[in-house]
Amino acid sequence: MLFGAILGLALLALGAGNPVLRASAQTSPSVTPLEVTEIAPGVFVHQGAYAVFTPSNRGDIANLSFVIGRDAVAVIDTGGSAAIGQALRAAIRAVTDKPIRYVINTHMHPDHLFGNVAFADDRPDFIGHHKLARALATRAERYLAINAELLGPEAFAGTRLIPPTRVVQDRLVIDLGERELMLEAQPTAHTDNDLTVHDSTTGTLFLGDLLFMRHIPALDGSIRGWMELINRLEQIPARRAVPGHGPPSAAWPEAIQPQKLYLQRISTEVRRMIKQGRSIAEAAATVGLSEKDAWLLFDEFNARNVTAAFAELEWE
Ligand SMILES: [Zn+2]
Repeated sequence: MLFGAILGLALLALGAGNPVLRASAQTSPSVTPLEVTEIAPGVFVHQGAYAVFTPSNRGDIANLSFVIGRDAVAVIDTGGSAAIGQALRAAIRAVTDKPIRYVINTHMHPDHLFGNVAFADDRPDFIGHHKLARALATRAERYLAINAELLGPEAFAGTRLIPPTRVVQDRLVIDLGERELMLEAQPTAHTDNDLTVHDSTTGTLFLGDLLFMRHIPALDGSIRGWMELINRLEQIPARRAVPGHGPPSAAWPEAIQPQKLYLQRISTEVRRMIKQGRSIAEAAATVGLSEKDAWLLFDEFNARNVTAAFAELEWE
């Protein structure tokens, strides 16, 4: 009890000067709410760190959002662990008591959906691309093992996988009360299960990892598909986009131009090396180096992207 009181005081002290944190008295005192920014009326985004999973960041490396309508709340991506999901839930409860009816996952990667478990008691629809469940089923064991190792036992505690309970075949509109979100299952691009969310009320387009800013893109689907899809996404008349990794939001379609350039360079240089009969290892060591200074985490992802692009393009 005394410990709880001290912790509560500590949280109040932490929250001083931050209206979102200060409003958190109604949430469990043991969970510190994630910091969020209201990027448009009723649209909140938490910016994840530019990092890979570590015990200290607890898997808090992706942007996580929620949208509040008249009747209900929709969450878009839940973070890389149960702990981060709980902290996101606390941030939601700090600004609204409305029921959390929808938890949307933009794709299969652990940093976007291992926080789902924190919302299980809300009994929302867990919504994903129609290929998400299959993608997770084939990777679950590996994802759980890798995450347990990268996060360490403390941050990983309580983390389990919750697959979608409702799928998007093509398009799905969900109604939050005087506010509709349009969900669209995209063809294979960053992965084979990318889902976009458009809030037409504010002109906000949630792109998940179809859009990386500052954080180097990570290719796990099809480079050709991704480049084609970008040409279509650019036509969407949104005011702003929320990237999966990057600032909380940015002007659309300007936000995607650096990524477009990166993918074009990779594909052009890889095609050239294939034509010259060079090996995949040679390509991985040299392709894309002119982009090095444009991105964070370049060394963590570039060679892997080039390898994936090479494996795809050599069959053209
Ligand atoms: Zn991600």
